[in-house]
Amino acid sequence: MWKTPIASRRALKRSPDRFGCRHTQKENVLSELHKFLFDGLPVRGMIVRLTDAWQEILARRASNTSTGPYPPPVAELLGEMAAAATLMQSNIKFNGALILQIFGDGPVKVAVAEAKPDLSLRATAKVIGDLPADARLPDMVNVNNKGRCAITLDPKDKLPGVTPYQGVVPLFGDEGEKLGKLSDVLQHYMLQSEQLDTTLVLAADDKVAAGLLIQRLPVKGEGNLEGTSGTSQRDHDQANEDQIGLNEDYNRISILASSLTRDELLTLDVETILRRLFWEEKLLRFEPQAGLLGPHFACTCGRERVAQMIRGLGVEEADSILAERGDIEVGCDFCGKQYRFDAVDAAQIFRPPTDQIPGSPIVQ
Ligand SMILES: [Zn+2]
Repeated sequence: MWKTPIASRRALKRSPDRFGCRHTQKENVLSELHKFLFDGLPVRGMIVRLTDAWQEILARRASNTSTGPYPPPVAELLGEMAAAATLMQSNIKFNGALILQIFGDGPVKVAVAEAKPDLSLRATAKVIGDLPADARLPDMVNVNNKGRCAITLDPKDKLPGVTPYQGVVPLFGDEGEKLGKLSDVLQHYMLQSEQLDTTLVLAADDKVAAGLLIQRLPVKGEGNLEGTSGTSQRDHDQANEDQIGLNEDYNRISILASSLTRDELLTLDVETILRRLFWEEKLLRFEPQAGLLGPHFACTCGRERVAQMIRGLGVEEADSILAERGDIEVGCDFCGKQYRFDAVDAAQIFRPPTDQIPGSPIVQ
């Protein structure tokens, strides 16, 4: 089970302040993702900073007159989810969408963040009723112990009838306590699903949604099914010894990572964060992903998808909405785009496939 590192942050040396305590937040910085390895150690890391992408998600919500902007605690949760979804998507080799969802039993009924392999992302939350300005995770989604978190991997080219993989985690710790932070929930999930120790630090405000992920890489014979078969006792002993030593490295790095404060994560640039935390470690950096190749907002909604949804309602329900309002109007929760279907459009949706006019215009 996940263990919180017990050593205090003072036991390890972070960079002294002479390396710079400047707050270097710049306006209009593009969202970026940085990956790195700890040279010679089985530990990897990633930092994501969502700036323009996150501000776009918030701005679209704020301009939706039927909902208005997110209450600040919900925006903070959703931003953390967006950062986490980006990190988790980048952490797996999977050609499809990673969808992080929280189904709440409090004022937040559902919160969703979705990230694709091209780092396009979108997020939305449904909030009903008021919530305190200082609401924490349990106050929003786990009031009656029924909240849960789901991680879905939806393949890009899935065959008809194939159900996407979904892992569900409760919002409780090992001692049965309600978890107060999304990072704790996801650390649990990563340990259970990937059998790998993971340290996550997440934070969001109305400008930036950011996250740091540190993960222990699998050593030989661990974290995969082949590992337990065909190895001799001697190999096992060797692997255990390796693991003990390697865990020390991971633990040290994990403690340093956990010492990153919310304020630092939100206001410092990536170079400063890495220098402050890991100035005594040797990092191997990958080319940062920003701009067109970096995290960016994109919505995949389209008129045909909405038509499918109306088809799902059934012809009677659709007719009753048409009788009452004259048309069926559906807004996308992610991007705010409105789709309108009048009686003629609706009749087309429910026409048997053989009767459909080929090449009828569909807005994508
Ligand atoms: Zn949309």
